[in-house]
Amino acid sequence: MVSLESRLQAAVGDKTAGALKRAFGMETVGDLLAHYPRRYAKRGELTPIDSLPLGEQVTIVAEVRSATERRMRNRKGSILEVVISDGQGALVLTFFNQAWRANELTPGRRGIFSGKVGVYRGAQQFAHPDYQLFEDEALGRMQAQARSTEPVPIYPATSTVASWQIKKTVDTVLDMLDDVPDPLPEPFRRARGLLDARSALERTHRPETFEQIEQAHETLRTHEAFVLQAALLQQREQVRALSATSRPAAADGLLARFDAALPFALTPDQQSVGRSIASDLEGAWPMNRLVQGEVGSGKTLVALRAMLQVAETGGQAALIAPTEVLAAQHVRSMARMLGPQLAPELMPTLLTGQLSAAERRKASLRAASGQARIVVGTHALLSASTTFADLGLVVVDEQHRFGVEQRETLRAKGTAPHVLVLTATPIPRTVAMTVFGDLDVSTIRTLPAGRAGISSFVAPLAEKPGWFARVWERIAEEVAAGHQAFVVCAAIDAEAAVKDDTADEPAGPSEGAPERTRWGVVQVQELLSRHPAFENLRVAILHGRMPGDEKDAIMQSFARGDLDVLIATTVIEVGVDVPNASTMVILEADRFGVSQLHQLRGRVGRGAVPGLCLLVTEAPVGTPARERVEAVAATTDGFELAEVDLELRGEGDVLGDAQSGARSSLRLLRVVKDAELIAIARHEAERVILSDPTLADHPGLAASIDRRLDVEERAALAKN
Ligand code: ADP
Ligand code: MG
Repeated sequence: MVSLESRLQAAVGDKTAGALKRAFGMETVGDLLAHYPRRYAKRGELTPIDSLPLGEQVTIVAEVRSATERRMRNRKGSILEVVISDGQGALVLTFFNQAWRANELTPGRRGIFSGKVGVYRGAQQFAHPDYQLFEDEALGRMQAQARSTEPVPIYPATSTVASWQIKKTVDTVLDMLDDVPDPLPEPFRRARGLLDARSALERTHRPETFEQIEQAHETLRTHEAFVLQAALLQQREQVRALSATSRPAAADGLLARFDAALPFALTPDQQSVGRSIASDLEGAWPMNRLVQGEVGSGKTLVALRAMLQVAETGGQAALIAPTEVLAAQHVRSMARMLGPQLAPELMPTLLTGQLSAAERRKASLRAASGQARIVVGTHALLSASTTFADLGLVVVDEQHRFGVEQRETLRAKGTAPHVLVLTATPIPRTVAMTVFGDLDVSTIRTLPAGRAGISSFVAPLAEKPGWFARVWERIAEEVAAGHQAFVVCAAIDAEAAVKDDTADEPAGPSEGAPERTRWGVVQVQELLSRHPAFENLRVAILHGRMPGDEKDAIMQSFARGDLDVLIATTVIEVGVDVPNASTMVILEADRFGVSQLHQLRGRVGRGAVPGLCLLVTEAPVGTPARERVEAVAATTDGFELAEVDLELRGEGDVLGDAQSGARSSLRLLRVVKDAELIAIARHEAERVILSDPTLADHPGLAASIDRRLDVEERAALAKN
């Protein structure tokens, strides 16, 4: 007998286990049984061979009519041609240099054949199909008859391991499989009308009828949702079991002084999130909180206030940002917000890879000595040479760029520090539950008052090519009115096809978008250099291939107002703050994802100056590419757009790396479609974890969580 934890070798032998490991990274019986069929073919009612869909993978039951071997004319080797028929039409199977197959593919034998339908010299054929012959002719015929309604599982296969080979191995393993402990609490399982774990696997891999499949899948989907939520909640409880240094705010302390000097009032959301954070920081266990809010909603301010509260008791805060530009901007804006009194006391310090060796040594020293109460940096913060005297708070800006591992690396530099994660990507609730299920989530929904807001328009060049010229005039007008403008491109150099690999990858051409990028930063710069309206304007470019100090200098002079127009890739995407920038033109907007466009446009309309966003696209009306762009123009509600994004792009892309661990264990569960199930599973998992934190009374769940961690760890290792 084998269990889900058994090594595959022990169950199916070295050769098969080796092949499955190489093809799919499978190691255990559980891995194999979690390789669910991609779909199920009908065994009995056959598509007549005559009308097989060309170019599609099909499975048919047929009988061998003849097999002929011949030498190839122009090449060395032989070709075996086998004619099969289902009684209505005939099909040729071809095998190169596999003459031995003639020994088993003898006339009269029946079996299942699957492959892609092609045409060669006017006749339909399968080249190198998978097949499985019925062992015994009479029995096979009988079985075929009896099983004519039985679905044939079709597995995700590779060139080395065919679907039927997987099926055979799964059959072997299922026959040997011991009882499978159920991850679901029995009353919950019954209440949901689900199968027991063993039957769910059995009916997924060898269903007797098509009707059985859905219930089996629903059961396995529920397992995924429940096990994931239980694992996340257990993680949350593990953090809560740590004892944190309490960091209470003092009555006349740093935070109080900061608030007193603030030139504006906190928004109601900032206040309520601030209260949650303040009480987290005083709590017995480390804070582990996500704050999500639109660009410009005041998250950095919220984080800074948390840093001040931590500094009160001598603690340090480290903020990690995804880019050099952002890290530098954070330091500058924090120093500005702190003002001349508080800034020297807290000494916000920049620590990035692009500092000179001497500067970096100085910054590291300040962090290590505890002199700098606020350290802001990029990945350099994670390096072993960065240490802190008393790291009390870790702030992660734009979580979706960082994996959980990075968060943990930084956390390990303190003793159970508090953790605050900031994201400007609005996340639908169930996605947040899945990706950030171990965090408490706070949302800032309202922007500070006094924002002029932003109007967005599509410039549809497919119907109105004349608008292209108008776009540039519009920019010149804005500049004449004293404002500044961004022009965003999907590439650095369209002709040389140079992408900005340090910036966020644009979504890429989707259906309806032209194959090649037309406008790179270089092309736009060239165009504007010859444009009469731009003759006296100060135009600069910004992209990821430029040296860091140069990038920083350009961004700073744009922020100071020394430049009128900045032509850039998406390096300017997140967090960059230039209140005087009124206009953003996004060229080939259809190349960007919905959320990305929304983030980009958040760069303008941040001050008292009303923002204007022109989304330029050549995508024709009705194409998905055009719909994405129209959706962004239609609303400024980030949560609404996040939902649209999920629908249009599929969740894998949207969730990004942050979820790679979770994704490796999600097979049937879809965070959007199964939102309700996820919420139900979380509720149940919460009940279980709170009443039985060590899962002593839930061995099936404990085992499932272990298996899941094992899969995740392997996925993480494979990535490094
Ligand atoms: P985010 O990090 O969410 O993008 P920031 O914290 O950088 O937002 O805030 C954006 C701008 O708004 C900053 O210039 C900040 O000083 C300002 N700001 C923040 N909170 C308020 C508020 N309550 N009232 C007015 N302005 C605010
Ligand atoms: Mg910010």
